[in-house]
Amino acid sequence: MSATTLATATTTGLGPAAWLALAGLLLAAAGAYALSCWWFPYAHCRCCHGDGKHYRPDGKVHRLCRWCKGTGRRLRIGRRVYNFYALRYRATRTGGRKE
Ligand SMILES: [Zn+2]
Repeated sequence: MSATTLATATTTGLGPAAWLALAGLLLAAAGAYALSCWWFPYAHCRCCHGDGKHYRPDGKVHRLCRWCKGTGRRLRIGRRVYNFYALRYRATRTGGRKE
């Protein structure tokens, strides 16, 4: 192997250790996100910013938020995914019956 091929191999491609570190980092980030979704399943509603209401320009309540039905909260995406699979798991365990 000449010096130029060695140089391109070290600068262009990531080594297996780097890929492993990257995969570990991604896994850790996913784990942290999953944990945070379990701990804090709700986030502020994007439409009303957690207020649950929409206001008129004069500051009075115009109406309740349609997205969160006035609660000001929305389920986070990670929690939605968890709920989907949890419901499916429960459905298969009880033989497809809905409780
Ligand atoms: Zn809302």
